[in-house]
Order: sequence, then C-alpha cells, then structure tokens
Amino acid sequence: MLAAALLLSSVFCYGWGFFGHKLVHQLAIYNLPKELERFYFKYQDYIVSNAPRPDERRNDDPAEAPRHFIDIDVYGPDAVHTMPEAWKAAAAKYSADTLLKYGIVPWHVMVMKERLTNAFRQKNVDSILYYSADLGHYIADAHVPLHTTQNYDGQMTGQRGLHSLWESKVPEMFAGTYKLRPGKARYLPDAEKEIWKIVRDSYALTPQTLALEQEASRNFTDETKYDRVERNGKIRQYYSDAFAKAYQEKIASMVEQRLNAAAQEVASFWYTCWVDGGKPDLDALMQQPLTRAEKKALRKEKKAYIRGQLFEKGMIIANKKPAS
Ligand SMILES: [Zn+2]
Repeated sequence: MLAAALLLSSVFCYGWGFFGHKLVHQLAIYNLPKELERFYFKYQDYIVSNAPRPDERRNDDPAEAPRHFIDIDVYGPDAVHTMPEAWKAAAAKYSADTLLKYGIVPWHVMVMKERLTNAFRQKNVDSILYYSADLGHYIADAHVPLHTTQNYDGQMTGQRGLHSLWESKVPEMFAGTYKLRPGKARYLPDAEKEIWKIVRDSYALTPQTLALEQEASRNFTDETKYDRVERNGKIRQYYSDAFAKAYQEKIASMVEQRLNAAAQEVASFWYTCWVDGGKPDLDALMQQPLTRAEKKALRKEKKAYIRGQLFEKGMIIANKKPAS
C-alpha cells in the first residue's frame, strides 16, 4: 500500500502533491473574512478536492506544464530580482517562447486572478469555484522552492527525487506535527508584486533545500537512504522514511512555513478578487444558505483549527476517503 502510494505521488505530483494542495485550500478557507467564509465553506469539498486538478490536466494539455513553475535561474543568478514583472516587458526582453519554455507561474497567477475577479463581477458561481480552485493551485506551487529553479528535482546535483521528497513525502509524513496557523487574508493592492515576492522567497530557499539534503545524507548509506520499488520491470528508487525524517529534522520549519504562507496567500488572492470584482453578496449567490448543521460543522472545524487539532480530530479533508 505504501509502495503504491509512493509511485502514485511520484508519477502525478508536480507541486505539493495532492495532499499538500488540498491542505493549503482547506486552511485558506478558515482565514477568509466572514463575507467569503460561509460561501467557501459551503463549497469546501469542491474547493479542496479540486486543488490538485491543474496537475491532472498536464497529462492531456501540453500548454499546462509551464504554468506550474519558473526556472528563474536560467536567466542568470540575479534574474529573480531583474526579471520584468509584467508579461509584456518580460516577453520583450526574452521572447514569449523562452518564457514558456522555462515556466510562467507568476504570470499565469495573474491571468487566473483576472478570471476569478471577472467571475465575481459576473456573479457566476460555477466560474467563481472553478477559478478559485485553479488560482489557489498555482499560488501554492509558487511557494515550493524547487518550482523556481532549473535544478527542480536535484537532478543536476545527484539528488534526484528531492522534488517529491520535499513537497509530498515530508508534508504527508509530518504535517500532523506542524503548527498550521496561516495568517488572515489581506487585501493585495498590487497582486503582481505579491506573486513575485512569493517567487523570490521560494527561490531564496533553494540553496538550503538542496544543501540540507546533502547534510542529512552524511549519516546514510545508499541502502538506508533509498527504498527500491520495481515498476514495469524497472527498479525505481525513492527516499526512505528514515531519510525523510532526517531531512525534516534538518529543514526544521521550512515546509511548515511554506504551507502556512501558501494558505494565507491563497486566501488573500481570493479575497482580493472578490473586492476587485465589486464585493458581490455571496450569501445571495449560494443556491441554499448554510444549513444549521453546516454552520455547526464550520464552528466545530474552526475551533479544532484554532486549537491545532484538525489532525487528531480526523478533520483533514485530504486524509478522508472519498465518499463512495
Ligand atoms: Zn502544480
């Protein structure tokens, strides 16, 4: 069962893994202002279960892949500070084809932000939900350090598999020990600046992300560092649980902080789109207002969230089996 899960996560994950993306969206909902919270809670299952959807699209849509990352160091060691933030200026400097080749996540976040804002303006519930889920995904991806470098899987430094270790295995194993309390949603007067700040913060963490793997490796042999799994007649290797634990100890709160930051930014972008879209009355847009039972469930979940008990109370939606 564990081996199957590892294979799946390594085949399908391109950012936080399914678990991390769902967790980010769930936490974002608890940090929305009242005017948005009821609506997002009403549709919580949709928002959370569709958090990984853009990754699934990559299998069928060739245009999808570059939306999840930016290999900013391709443009030089200081490019994260010198890259023009606006798409037009960046494309004039490097050509749109080049930008597409090395990833466009900050610019795609701005496209999604515009679409979500329009959905609020048009009071279109289906579009609000659809673009909320997608926008949240790309914002969360931009929080992953290895989504900002050409050495995205440690493949240039003999650390292949690091991508999935950092964004899937470590959060899946240790999120229950993290303090998951993102800050409240803030209005973003300049969302473009904000997404570039996120990319810079992520990029600043890439040296540690890579170096701490090497530090942790000193106490391991190849046999203890990796698990080997046979798949389609090929042997694949994945970081072992013991190594994941050693790596988590080295990186300390890094993944916890990026999860929290991602959830706060997702909530902030949703809130900003709602404000910019004319602050439509979301209670009036719901087909049915929250029932008494739903209101009670929201209060219970928020209480558990504030006390840091979501895991122990079995309220992490990503851990729940889908209803059959
Ligand atoms: Zn992704």
